[in-house]
Amino acid sequence: MKIDLHNHSYYSDGVLSPTEVVRLAKEQGCDMFALTDHDTVDGLAEAKTEADKLGMQFIPGVEVSAMWSNMTIHILGLGVDAENEVLQAGLKQHQDFRQLRAEKMARGLGGAGVFGAMEKTQALAKKGMITRTHFAQMLIQEGVCKDMRSVFKRFLTGKKPGGVGGKWAQFDEVIAWIHAAGGKAALAHPFRYRMTNTKVKRMMSDLADNGCDGVEVVTGSSSKDEITLTSQWARELGMLSSQGSDYHGWPHQRIRIGHLLDMPNPENSIWRDW
Ligand code: AMP
Ligand code: MN
Ligand code: MN
Ligand code: MN
Repeated sequence: MKIDLHNHSYYSDGVLSPTEVVRLAKEQGCDMFALTDHDTVDGLAEAKTEADKLGMQFIPGVEVSAMWSNMTIHILGLGVDAENEVLQAGLKQHQDFRQLRAEKMARGLGGAGVFGAMEKTQALAKKGMITRTHFAQMLIQEGVCKDMRSVFKRFLTGKKPGGVGGKWAQFDEVIAWIHAAGGKAALAHPFRYRMTNTKVKRMMSDLADNGCDGVEVVTGSSSKDEITLTSQWARELGMLSSQGSDYHGWPHQRIRIGHLLDMPNPENSIWRDW
């Protein structure tokens, strides 16, 4: 079974439409696939239609931004009902914050000599949601930076001109939205938060204590050691294991849908009852 439960479309910061992502997943041999755009469920209906057409098992998902210990983390909601009002109200809050944050980022960039940042970035966002990825694309297009790595480092993080603090909902609230919508909550890419291993484990433990069902044990960028460690901690903490590529479809990316290293304990997987 080829399973990929973490993918983006242009409803957030991916390049492809939901239909195109689903087609690509099918071409890559996926049997089970989830679309998990940042803070929106708007692409799910289109993706489901295409997955049904192709006979691929579709899991409706979302990747929700959240605060843990004053840091931004990402929590996946898998198997969510997109029509659920609690989830929709929560996501709306995040979408509104994104709009305000974008305006603030644009002002910051203006102060650094990048003019018209809001308009130029908005033009790149296909479905209205503006992410930092769109700002990054804009800065690369304008010739201000040459690649994603440097643009985030120089402009879009911390106290840099386009850096803004996260004001997302607290992690326990986000878990509650996902549960209200009948989904399972899983911490995304645990090793991408610039934390020590001790802190990563503490975060997992804290999330588990607050009802988080699982953790992404295998992601498109995981090393073997990270997979072993996450899988071990998941067992200790009674969390289920998830896996997904975090495919965005940007050029020059090595990540491919459905191409993942093996999960050590598949019997402990989040999809075992699906
Ligand atoms: P946002 O949710 O708008 O703050 O944007 C976060 C997104 O930016 C993440 O989901 C990644 O896709 C992307 N991102 C964050 N940091 C980096 C980085 N250092 N290099 C490339 N992309 C990044
Ligand atoms: Mn992203
Ligand atoms: Mn993420
Ligand atoms: Mn993602």
